[in-house]
Amino acid sequence: MIVLRLNHQQRDFLQTVVDRDAHLGDIGDLVRAALRDAPAHVPSGETPPARREPPRRTPVRRHLLEPGTGKAFEVDAGQVIRISQIAGHQCVDLNVFSRRDGRERLHVGRTRGMQGQRPGPGDVLWSNAPWERPIMAIAGGTATTDTRFPFCSRLIYSAFFGLHNRTNCEEIQNEAQREYGLSPWDIHESLNLFMHTGTGPGGEAVIRRNRARPGDHIEFVALLDLLVVPNVCGDDVTNCSNFGMRQVAVTIEQGRPADAELARTARNRAAILGLPPAREVPGARPLRRDPGFVPAFPHLPLRRADVPVEVGEALTHRFTRARNLDLYAADDDALRDITLSWAIERLGAFTGNG
Ligand SMILES: [Zn+2]
Repeated sequence: MIVLRLNHQQRDFLQTVVDRDAHLGDIGDLVRAALRDAPAHVPSGETPPARREPPRRTPVRRHLLEPGTGKAFEVDAGQVIRISQIAGHQCVDLNVFSRRDGRERLHVGRTRGMQGQRPGPGDVLWSNAPWERPIMAIAGGTATTDTRFPFCSRLIYSAFFGLHNRTNCEEIQNEAQREYGLSPWDIHESLNLFMHTGTGPGGEAVIRRNRARPGDHIEFVALLDLLVVPNVCGDDVTNCSNFGMRQVAVTIEQGRPADAELARTARNRAAILGLPPAREVPGARPLRRDPGFVPAFPHLPLRRADVPVEVGEALTHRFTRARNLDLYAADDDALRDITLSWAIERLGAFTGNG
């Protein structure tokens, strides 16, 4: 007997696959089929890069983002916001707005056009037209980034998974942004943090298993007074966050002279391209905190929904050979990966969503 550790949304997903597949009577059948088909894991043999600690600065505030939530943070020009892994494996979506005028916000498409598909340390993030200027610079860190995949939304889970009621970045962002009077239509394309993307055989963008490790982080220095809204990606059924949702740490600190220098350099490099003259846009919409705001994130709490499964000696042996020891220290995580990966393939589901 083994136990497949799930939350209720993951179990709902497996049940949808069972319901559609005449060969499967229950989730136990699905787990056994997944184990039978699981190829032996080939160790990568790679040594992970040495861990780099962030520099020491004066802290302003620290917050733990819980699974299924996000939060809007005021980050003043010159301050640094750091988003860090705790357990690893967690994709984070990011929205950014100017506090002086919430109509000015991060434009991920423009950022991709100016900085490439995966902006990194020293690159700037660009705002939308008619402002079109650098609003943050990436000050450092070890995170991968992605600008190609749109946030996961109600549509993605309905269209590709047949799931209609579950955590998703769209609704998490909506709720987090509501604290500052932003509406559901204010959400913009997310900058995807700690997402591991690559190119598939047909040249298409694909999402691979998450490689973020404990302590991996990314730091941004604000170039204007900003509202920065990270959220723990609501996807716990694909490899985007390795089939789970985990806590993430957010730290805001006073910038050091070195951060100011990095911001200046990044901004100057952008300005050399020839920035359009600044334009006054009438009707500014300053963002202010709603003092009465009480967060109410939908689809929470996540409930435990473990499934005990009878497996014989042969399948237990198979599992021992198939579990991905490069990624997972715990058998629970490895088993969930094997099972959910198999279920997605069975469903013929498209997994390309952030
Ligand atoms: Zn997401």
